[in-house]
Amino acid sequence: MVPPTEAPSQPKRRAPARRGKGRAEGQWALGYREPLNGNEQSKKDDNPLNVRSRIENIYARRGFDSIDPSDLRGRFRWWGLYTQRAPGIPGARTGTIEPEQLDDSYFMLRIRVDGGALTTEQLRVIGEISQTYARDTADVTDRQNVQLHWIRVEDMPAIWERLESVGLYTTEACGDCPRVILGSPVAGIAADEIVDATPAIREIAHHYIGDRSLSNLPRKFKTAISGSPRQDVVHETNDVSFIGVHHPEHGPGFDLWVGGGLSTNPKLAVRLGTWVPLEEVPEVWHAVVQIFRDYGYRRLRNRARMKFLVADWGAEKFREVLENEYLGRRLLDGPEPPLPEGPRDHVGVHEQVDGNYYVGVTSVAGRVNGSTLIEVAKAAERVGSRRIRTTVEQNLLVLDVPGSEVENLISDLDELGLRARPSPWRRSVMACTGIEFCKLAIVETKNRATELVEDLERRLADVQGNMDNPVTVNLNGCPNACARTQVADIGLKGQLVQDEQGNQVEGFQVHLGGGLGRDAGFGRKIRGHKVTSAEVGDYVERLVRRYLDQRSGGETFAQ
Ligand code: SF4
Repeated sequence: MVPPTEAPSQPKRRAPARRGKGRAEGQWALGYREPLNGNEQSKKDDNPLNVRSRIENIYARRGFDSIDPSDLRGRFRWWGLYTQRAPGIPGARTGTIEPEQLDDSYFMLRIRVDGGALTTEQLRVIGEISQTYARDTADVTDRQNVQLHWIRVEDMPAIWERLESVGLYTTEACGDCPRVILGSPVAGIAADEIVDATPAIREIAHHYIGDRSLSNLPRKFKTAISGSPRQDVVHETNDVSFIGVHHPEHGPGFDLWVGGGLSTNPKLAVRLGTWVPLEEVPEVWHAVVQIFRDYGYRRLRNRARMKFLVADWGAEKFREVLENEYLGRRLLDGPEPPLPEGPRDHVGVHEQVDGNYYVGVTSVAGRVNGSTLIEVAKAAERVGSRRIRTTVEQNLLVLDVPGSEVENLISDLDELGLRARPSPWRRSVMACTGIEFCKLAIVETKNRATELVEDLERRLADVQGNMDNPVTVNLNGCPNACARTQVADIGLKGQLVQDEQGNQVEGFQVHLGGGLGRDAGFGRKIRGHKVTSAEVGDYVERLVRRYLDQRSGGETFAQ
């Protein structure tokens, strides 16, 4: 994956320039290359991947105050680094807070885990780095990454050396580039697997992550690839997704989806109606990301995700451009994958195709720490496993567990606060980073999620046995929806709200009835449904009791 490769930074093709919308949107393929905002200018001034050598040779030696602001608030992201939120800054964006007031001198560091695949050795190294350099912090994110906090720029050379010694990277973990590739956590081991996508994920990561021709995209680019019939990578919310499907004549392969994304203008991805065999996935992925690079909108940051281009073009035009301008051939038409039955997560004990078992465990909202990760690695190795997976539900899986060792492992992980048989709430509450570390946050999320889970376990203990359809509760610190507000049964979007005394306090706007898979759709923003943080437990209890009382048959919360 690293070091970055030298490659032409220009699009391979240029259509004749036309006046009108193309110029207004700053689309490179229409000939409009002049930067139309500060972010575009910064990327043009210097390829963001170049910042690594400045970190290693200048900033790590001279310290935080030596960092050029355009590197600090821009290019650092291409190496997984964001400044943390300075402590004590309130969540309301009053317009009186300057960006530099929000910057702490410590960083958040995102380690990319493509396909969610880690060895126990890699997990142990992440844990050790956390203990040494990150005050023992670690969050498993809903994009299968591991995120550390309290990182000093002075320590980055040593951290990279340690990570890269075990094949881990932070390259393009953030920034306007191809981010981590989501993959089925049970790729290669699940008895019901349609196709193992691992070779495609590895090839994309090896050839294209750190490729300078793809390091200046209009905005972030999110990928999901899964050959599991459980469709376990939230493909509906990614820029490009490949989902396993059987073609009646050609056998196992992938169905191609494009243009999904949440945040303030959420859109679900659309199918292009094509079937892509495993060996062609990297080529087709490369073509899609080039379309985004060349035709994506670059004028306004809030219109620069690929979902806006796909919404304007439609699936038919997108497929035409993909085939005619980038691949130079037609793709085969393909069938729509059947919708999965049952939960998409992998919590609990499941038999693998080889007769061993995998064990899926939940933390609360992905919050663990470095010491816990080291203990997970040790527990896995004690039962003969060397493979760990992260999931898009912020959970962990231990693979390759012999049947005779399953209960020993479950008991060891339970002592670490990781449950293979969790309550419905421990299983289905997610949270983003929130105000503890995120500069965009308005409210606290992770600690609130921990309190909420314990609160709901007490309040709803009497109906726990009736929760056959889990109700997902996703807490987000702001409208950006990093924890997928709009596709939760109960989506909580952080904002300031008024309490009974009329004071502005931390709280949430509620979105109800969102979902993925069979229930794919965005939750409705219910007018007047705003709750203070202190009231969330009470509010969720009322909703869940009403749902359980009024549902008919196997009706889910979203229905
Ligand atoms: Fe930060 Fe907002 Fe994303 Fe939460 S949703 S991590 S507060 S940007």
